Amino acid sequence: MSTVLLVEDDERLRRALALTLRARGYTVTDVATGREALAEASHRKLDAIVLDLGLPDLDGLEVIRRVRESSALPIVVLSARRDESDKVQALDAGADDYMTKPFGVDELLARLRAAVRRSGRGEDQRVVATPDFTIDLGRKTLTDRSLAPIHLTPTEWGVLETLVRANGLLVTSADLLSEVWGPGYEEQTNYLRVYVGQLRRKIEPDVTRPRYLLTTPGIGYRFDASGATPTSA
Ligand code: CA
Repeated sequence: MSTVLLVEDDERLRRALALTLRARGYTVTDVATGREALAEASHRKLDAIVLDLGLPDLDGLEVIRRVRESSALPIVVLSARRDESDKVQALDAGADDYMTKPFGVDELLARLRAAVRRSGRGEDQRVVATPDFTIDLGRKTLTDRSLAPIHLTPTEWGVLETLVRANGLLVTSADLLSEVWGPGYEEQTNYLRVYVGQLRRKIEPDVTRPRYLLTTPGIGYRFDASGATPTSA
């Protein structure tokens, strides 16, 4: 069960969201100002923050920056500001996701789940060793056989981590896309081809014969930690 801090000064919206989140099993602390939000964030154990940008006291961007000084807590921003520049500012300040009002509650729930999952709080802390590299899910690191770090972009890491967490099971392209990129990206299979290609160049001993990141054509991808030589179909 996850604990969410909900920061929204519109009382009707705050109540409705708090009610919905509680109905979905979240523990919710709801506040109406930036100062209350910072106070709660500093002393309460939280799994995520849902933050309205337009607050009566502090600007939501300021709240994000201050939270980021001490915490990597996932922050999903709600905003009536539609400008691309506002979105970029919020993401630059350290928000994990951005939703423009009005939004659907189901979409908020999906994005919140994805943000909490990406942050991996209290979840899967395993270290998965393969013959060629080691993935530490808790520390979010990848090292080669000589323990040298292999650097991944956040998106590459997201793809790899999602596949590793699936424990060898096939992950459909749609699930992978919505997990890493968020709801609404399920059709963008070209993204996956690009990022899986990049990942393979970094981790596969032979990019032309993948052993770890396996494609099931037209369906999805699977991670095989054994790195066994693939049998030709
Ligand atoms: Ca507001």
